[in-house]
Amino acid sequence: MGRPKVALITGITGQDGSYLADFLLDQGYEVIGMVRRSSTVNFDRIRHIQDRITIAQGDLLDQMSIVDILREHRPHEVYNLAAQSFVPTSWKQPVLTGEFTALGVTRMLEAVRIVDPEIRFYQASSSEMFGKVKQTPQNEDTPFHPRSPYGVAKVYGHYITVNYRESYGLFACSGILFNHTSPRQGLEFFTPKITHGAVQIKRGQASKLYLGNLDARRDLGYTPDYVRAMWLMLQQDHPDDYVVASGETHSVREVCQLAFGQLGLNWEDYVVVDPQFLRPADVDLLVGDASKARRVLGWEPTLNFEALIHLMVQANLKAA
Ligand code: NAP
Repeated sequence: MGRPKVALITGITGQDGSYLADFLLDQGYEVIGMVRRSSTVNFDRIRHIQDRITIAQGDLLDQMSIVDILREHRPHEVYNLAAQSFVPTSWKQPVLTGEFTALGVTRMLEAVRIVDPEIRFYQASSSEMFGKVKQTPQNEDTPFHPRSPYGVAKVYGHYITVNYRESYGLFACSGILFNHTSPRQGLEFFTPKITHGAVQIKRGQASKLYLGNLDARRDLGYTPDYVRAMWLMLQQDHPDDYVVASGETHSVREVCQLAFGQLGLNWEDYVVVDPQFLRPADVDLLVGDASKARRVLGWEPTLNFEALIHLMVQANLKAA
């Protein structure tokens, strides 16, 4: 028997990393997860697979730690999901966001180039790069106009990935993923914040839910569908960039209506707009055109918006 396929995931303790690890294990991969040191272990999302994966200590800020991991584990595929991933924090810590989310990508690509340029590389790009959108829906050719330090850092990460593909012939792909959520997403993100908040109110554990812009519209999908698209990109004959999106757009208000409605509550009685959650600059109507991913990768989402919100509410009820 030959060596099983080996994949390195940066950001394995995060939402996407944990689902991608589940998916790759199911495909028979050996999975290495890069984890940065912290004073307490932060493995909630990967506890169920902890004995089936290998943890390697490394940090996007530390070039040699990444080189050493690649030398030791010799992965065939690298999925760079680690980042400072929360848009509001990027205004508070713009320099750090640039270090992790932008320059961190170059450190990963440099490590790949130096250790083994045959490694296939995936970069977690974001619809936030479109920001003040130039066309609707957005596809791979839509110009970028990011509206946050996070979005700006992701544009850098995207172009450096394209540049290493063109400069060094690396098999490097940038997946431009629109918002996706799941019961494993952090509670600071709007969908779990709403569904978790609605369940808390239903159970009498809270009386109000404080949110930002209710008119903000997002293209929202289910994370397990989106990590499958990442893997599909690295299985093609040629590296390329792909938009991954549901193609539908829904407002924060609609998420509230559905989530509270499923619990027999009227959202207007509980939701309060709190100016502290408004962004200094918001993005416009983000809605993705994933026709290339559908055509070339054969990718299809499995859950629609209503089913996704239902799943989130049910998961919150179960956890409660
Ligand atoms: P997440 O839950 O916030 O996970 C981020 C991961 O990055 C965590 O594992 C975190 O580790 C790790 N990390 C942060 N800084 C690091 C550093 N300096 N060195 C090593 N690891 C570091 O994010 P996610 O939702 O899974 O998203 C995954 C990727 O997709 C991110 O790059 C995000 O920007 C991008 N993306 C997400 C969406 C979305 O809707 N979720 C859409 C488009 C793109 P700790 O556990 O130690 O904090």
